[in-house]
Amino acid sequence: MLPLDTAPRPRLPSPLVAAEDERFARHGVRLLLKRDDLVHPALVGNKWRKLAPNLRAAAGRPLLTFGGAYSHHLRATATAGRLLGLATTGVVRGHELAGRPLNDTLRACAADGMRLHFVDRATYRHKNEPETLARILRETGGEGAYLVPEGGSNALAVRGCRDLGAELAGAAEVVAVACGTGGTLAGLAAGLAPGQRALGIPVVGGGFLEGEIETLQRSAFGGRRGSWTLDDRFHFGGYARTPPELLAFAEDFGARHGLPVETLYVAKMLYGLLALTEEGAFAPGTTLAAVITGRPPNAPPPGAMPQSSAQSSAQPSP
Ligand SMILES: *Cc1c(COP(=O)(O)O)cnc(C)c1O
Repeated sequence: MLPLDTAPRPRLPSPLVAAEDERFARHGVRLLLKRDDLVHPALVGNKWRKLAPNLRAAAGRPLLTFGGAYSHHLRATATAGRLLGLATTGVVRGHELAGRPLNDTLRACAADGMRLHFVDRATYRHKNEPETLARILRETGGEGAYLVPEGGSNALAVRGCRDLGAELAGAAEVVAVACGTGGTLAGLAAGLAPGQRALGIPVVGGGFLEGEIETLQRSAFGGRRGSWTLDDRFHFGGYARTPPELLAFAEDFGARHGLPVETLYVAKMLYGLLALTEEGAFAPGTTLAAVITGRPPNAPPPGAMPQSSAQSSAQPSP
């Protein structure tokens, strides 16, 4: 067993709470919040669900993974390394970043002991091709490392997220989740009961996610599983784009419901859910569960957080 399972213990199943919100109630829609942000104080939300099975599989080997400069996955991997005493290497997209001061995400990674290795965008794009990967491993001395793909989504991670769906079985007709790589949605959808649908809100545009989620489900389960759809209209221009309208929405939602709203993913999902509700996309009588997949990087750990104050303003904009 990993120390991760004992100190501090993950809180599973994560709490499912009703949110009184007249903007949904007006349309006959009941809103539930699935508080995956409370699963673990240090390894937040879906990152715990995705990383825990990989940490077990790594069996003490150093970890090597990939991400952009704002990647929550890199940060979670660095934290896991610190908690478990594993060496971690993060391969970061963007060679030009090597000469600049680190942003908050990368600084937190470095503070947790992660070694950062910056690569140019072409190298990053081809990182899954054997020759490029071999070169990266050589340059980082990572030949014996346990590899976790970009965003942490591999078959083990996807299977880990199936529990999230199972915890929601029967609780709601529609379960909404923000999608980066789509690994969380792929697992969640597989864990839901018949008659439930997972709704993914991609935080990056481009329409490539449908195929990637199918591929992830095939690798984890052997084929497409569960009922799921994507709505591609709420990415606000792309990853880490957080225009003032979105930040204001997140601030307001946080104040209404007493939780810090993470803005790269969670705010976009909640915004999309409200927009869809206002469009009449959900029949009156529908129960929606919104998965709160994480919390703002600078929010205090759960427990330290006073219920009444919204902390979203504490988050720097990327
Ligand atoms: C990483 C992350 C996601 C995206 O998860 P995927 O499995 O890559 O789709 C969603 N929400 C938050 C808060 C995250 O940190």
